Amino acid sequence: MLAERLPGILPPLTRQESLEVTAVHSVGGILPPGEPLVRRAPYCAPHHSATMQSLVGGGNGLPRPGAVSLAHRGVLFLDEAPEFSGKALDALRQPLESGHVVIARAAGVVRLPARFLLALAANPCPCGRHTLYGAGCECPASVIRRYQARLSGPLLDRVDLRVEVEPVTRSDLLGQGGRGETTATVAARVHEARTRAAARLSDTPGR
Ligand SMILES: [Zn+2]
Repeated sequence: MLAERLPGILPPLTRQESLEVTAVHSVGGILPPGEPLVRRAPYCAPHHSATMQSLVGGGNGLPRPGAVSLAHRGVLFLDEAPEFSGKALDALRQPLESGHVVIARAAGVVRLPARFLLALAANPCPCGRHTLYGAGCECPASVIRRYQARLSGPLLDRVDLRVEVEPVTRSDLLGQGGRGETTATVAARVHEARTRAAARLSDTPGR
């Protein structure tokens, strides 16, 4: 649920970003009717059974954009990340590094943009109860190690923030502050942070 809120706290796309996203979505055939220009950061959450091709792009004949390109300038969310195939996860490393993917097919070679914010969610073990306060996990240590090792070091090296999320109790939800902040409140804070960062980097090529 938190991951689904991420595009909502991102600032609206700039005109240039909007054109890029619209072009990719148009090629992918997912531009909603009556919406000639995508203005909000896209959100793409492929299922863990997704093939490498549907993740990075491909297909027979004319190459089609994959999830990494459909999430360009937006959020790519992989729920149950360790359940994705190792090949599919490894294929994310190139776009994460370069911001684009190159797909070669018989009909030609295309280069598609793929600059996205990657969010991964993972259980601590196959049963999901191996947490600090959680009880009842009976997964053997070797199974837990193997499960966690499915997210390779080189992929995790590209992850900047790791947050452990403990199970939420009923009293947490009902108690004071249980409702948390609204998306709009957080979006305003993100906007302010981005404005400050832009000012700080204004005389550098960075963004
Ligand atoms: Zn377990």
